[in-house]
Amino acid sequence: MRELALAPETAAFLRREIRHARGREVLFVARVTSDRRVVDPQVLARGDRGKVLAATRFAPPGSLVVHNHPSGVLEPSEADLAIAHALHEEGYGFAIIDNDATELYVVVEPPRPVVPIDPDEVEALLAPGGPLAARHPAYEDRPGQRAYARRIAEVLNTGGVALLEAGTGTGKTFGYLVPLVQWARANSQRVLVATHTIPLQEQLVQKDIPAVLGALGGELRAVLLKGRRNYVSLRRLEQAAAQALSLLPDEHQAQITALLDWSRRTGDGTLSDLPFQPHPDVWDEVASDTDLCLRSRCPHFQRCFYQRARRLAFAADVVVVNHALLLSHFALQKDGGQVIPDAPVLVLDEAHNLEYVATEHLAEAVSRAGLLRRLRRLEHRNRGLLPTLQRSVDRLAAGNDLFATAVHRLVSDRLRPALAPAGEAAGRLFGAIEDLLAQRHQPLLPLDDAFFASRDHAFIEEAGRTLREALGRLVTGLRELERHLEVAEADDAWAGLRLEVRGALHRLAAMHRALLAALDPAEDGPPRVRWAELRRERGEDDRPRTNVLLVAAPVAVAEALHDLVTSGRRAAVLTSATLTVAGRFDFLRERLGVPGGAVTDVFPSPFDFARQACLFVPTDLPVPTGGEEDEHRIAAVADAVLDVTEASRGGVFVLFTSYRDLRAVAARLRTVLPGPVLVQGEAPRSRLLAEFRRSGDAVLLGTASFWEGVDVPGEALRALVIARLPFRVPSDPVVAARTAALEAEGRDAFRDYLLPYAALRLRQGVGRLVRTRTDRGVLVVLDPRLVTRSYGATLLASLPPDLPVRRGPWESLRREISAFYACVS
Ligand code: SF4
Repeated sequence: MRELALAPETAAFLRREIRHARGREVLFVARVTSDRRVVDPQVLARGDRGKVLAATRFAPPGSLVVHNHPSGVLEPSEADLAIAHALHEEGYGFAIIDNDATELYVVVEPPRPVVPIDPDEVEALLAPGGPLAARHPAYEDRPGQRAYARRIAEVLNTGGVALLEAGTGTGKTFGYLVPLVQWARANSQRVLVATHTIPLQEQLVQKDIPAVLGALGGELRAVLLKGRRNYVSLRRLEQAAAQALSLLPDEHQAQITALLDWSRRTGDGTLSDLPFQPHPDVWDEVASDTDLCLRSRCPHFQRCFYQRARRLAFAADVVVVNHALLLSHFALQKDGGQVIPDAPVLVLDEAHNLEYVATEHLAEAVSRAGLLRRLRRLEHRNRGLLPTLQRSVDRLAAGNDLFATAVHRLVSDRLRPALAPAGEAAGRLFGAIEDLLAQRHQPLLPLDDAFFASRDHAFIEEAGRTLREALGRLVTGLRELERHLEVAEADDAWAGLRLEVRGALHRLAAMHRALLAALDPAEDGPPRVRWAELRRERGEDDRPRTNVLLVAAPVAVAEALHDLVTSGRRAAVLTSATLTVAGRFDFLRERLGVPGGAVTDVFPSPFDFARQACLFVPTDLPVPTGGEEDEHRIAAVADAVLDVTEASRGGVFVLFTSYRDLRAVAARLRTVLPGPVLVQGEAPRSRLLAEFRRSGDAVLLGTASFWEGVDVPGEALRALVIARLPFRVPSDPVVAARTAALEAEGRDAFRDYLLPYAALRLRQGVGRLVRTRTDRGVLVVLDPRLVTRSYGATLLASLPPDLPVRRGPWESLRREISAFYACVS
């Protein structure tokens, strides 16, 4: 996208007027020509940016409002971003210049009339004989991909929201990139792509977008913008290195040295480029963070990895982000902030995950490990932020004894003594919750009316109040400390310390709010579901540990998601390989708040499932109950997996819905199987998958994250076993709250929520098996309910229509499975 440029006579006019105003702020309005020059400037107002919205009534929509930053730093302030947003809504663009009018920073361009793209041309670009076919030797004609790309081109032309399902193997990514690139070019407009995971974003920017651009020719800039805390802050890293001795324990200091070394070589300064996994406390000390950023006052501002990525994103034509960053941006935008540049066109890939991501993102949570880590960061064995601050005060206060004394007093008399009681109160509260969960043999405790009315509640409430009071004292003290440092901030040396105090303050205040939201919620506001949870995780020393969390999450996120996709957008395409249930979009349309009138369409998988796969469902295996008798079922599942492994000679994925089942089956398989049994949780997912691909005869057992996003094309994967239908657990607090909300409306929560969710999940799981036109394999669902219960029809109707289904006693299916492989080999 060619950038807007000041015509020479415009620059001369702006310069002259700024000189007349003695370098103070002047607001101009100008016209943008079709060859993207800024001409015909006029003065709108002098010295008061607040007048800008009123003053634009004298300028036609489509004009560009320009104002100068006397500092010469063209980075838009939060106020600038808020004005830019409001102006754009009214039809104007907004830009910043320096006082010499030599540089122009366009915050947002004026909206322009739409230039439609030609759907025939879009289709032809993907067709045999087209530029993509010519460029890529492995090109395959995919009529579904062409139809999908055509439909996206039509949606971009008409505007609005679309839900488009593109089955496995359709070539979805190129299918949306081609019309997006054509649109960005024709309209000189930025487009935004949001995906669920960083690996997919990296693949888009490093592989797929360059491939499309290489084939279509011409210049477009594509940029990946990750969440801010993925980037190292050079200023914080420098500060951590200087203060490492007083800030961090000895064992972490080598990591700071390694980070310093890496920061001189890294390309993008993000965690995924780092060759080692930093300790969370170390990364916390050096990560880029809104609260801890000096922005244009930072000596590293020009080199800063995050600021550079942001500048590139604001100058880019295609910006790739993840769902979580998009949600953060949207929340900040409401307060006038801006993380991602404006883009009128959005493609949300992996959209089936949006409800989950939004729920997680909009939830408030506080954990024992997180809170204790925050407290340790303030002080632990005479190291941390507070001791560092006290040491710095004497050095930096330069004879200002009153100031130094006030800071010392506040830190020594109020803050440091408040840390131990806060830690003890946290230990008591989270310990009591852990005991309660252990007594009930449950990993989750809903904090619902029944809990608040129970005897257990009294102690938890008391411990919660004590912790809130202890945190409240810390928050008040840190706020006062921040104010002290603000006064001293005339000296730049203080700025970094003040930001660290502010960061600590904001985090503790957020934990304080989360405690309140979970244990003592306000009566008003949108409905929230609250629970306590015990998680088994790996500690910072890599040893297993238990963590306890308190969470308050929104029951419904549809309204927030509706605003996310519609607000300020011309067109939004929500896409995924799994959006429909039994061929209908109703479920996700409702859950994601998709507006009525949205375009919906399905582009089926091109794979020949009748030839490539077969689904086997035994009718004589035990039905899952969740009770003690489930042990028979687990033994039967393990035996069936052994049978499938023997028939396929390994290359088997087994998907579970619970770790308990997974561990039990893994233990049994290991006593019998000679080949590798790879188990989720025993190594990182990427290593397990690499080992599975390499081995060729392994069995891989996984739960949640293995149901989707796993791509093992070819011979390595020859059989997929699903141990149990993936219904959500009704006792999960979010599920319970959502089903209760539906029942309160007089609806059938099983039919309208649990069943469609299971259907989408099952399709995701099944989608792991056939990844190319030559893949062949069997799919085994070891849960008879798929064919014996009436709802099984909905689940089966959600699978590929030509997938053959065999049902019957396991003994006979076992022979059929062996025959399948005999015929493949
Ligand atoms: S500009 Fe902000 S994020 Fe970048 S190095 Fe400076 S303080 Fe850190």
